[in-house]
Amino acid sequence: MSNIIHHPSLIEELAGEIKMKCSYHGKLADNEIIKKGKSKSGIQRYRCKICMQQLHKKNYEKNKATLKIKQAKYRAENKEKVAANKKKSRIKTFAKHKEKRNLYSQEYCKKQIEELGDNYIKRIFTKRTLLKTKDIPASLVEMKREVIRLKRLIKLKEIGEDIEKNNQS
Ligand SMILES: [Zn+2]
Repeated sequence: MSNIIHHPSLIEELAGEIKMKCSYHGKLADNEIIKKGKSKSGIQRYRCKICMQQLHKKNYEKNKATLKIKQAKYRAENKEKVAANKKKSRIKTFAKHKEKRNLYSQEYCKKQIEELGDNYIKRIFTKRTLLKTKDIPASLVEMKREVIRLKRLIKLKEIGEDIEKNNQS
């Protein structure tokens, strides 16, 4: 450090320690600082935290652009490989969420059947046909729901009568 010239306004003594100041902001340059060339008169310049942040940001933006170009070039040159990797990762994700999905769909189906949900009833009509659930009118769904409710009631009643008969004999 002996041969480095410091401008008096860019030096500050703190607890007996000489600290450099940023040539741009006048702020104290701490451990993370870098030397930033020398002025014409040979005075060593430093950069502060603000400068470093700006520098990092600038570098990141610059690299982001080059990185994007690089990635695009790689994708264009390795279309099959990229597609294969994409498929692989899709399969992986699909498998990862399978259990959760199954559980959810089982619960959903159970609830639909119990509560005679629209989807459950619409599927009764669309099953083994080319119809889509959206093709089934709401009035038909309502009617079918009532029919199923009635059938379920009758079944319950029959079960009740069977139990009674068994109890009597
Ligand atoms: Zn600075």
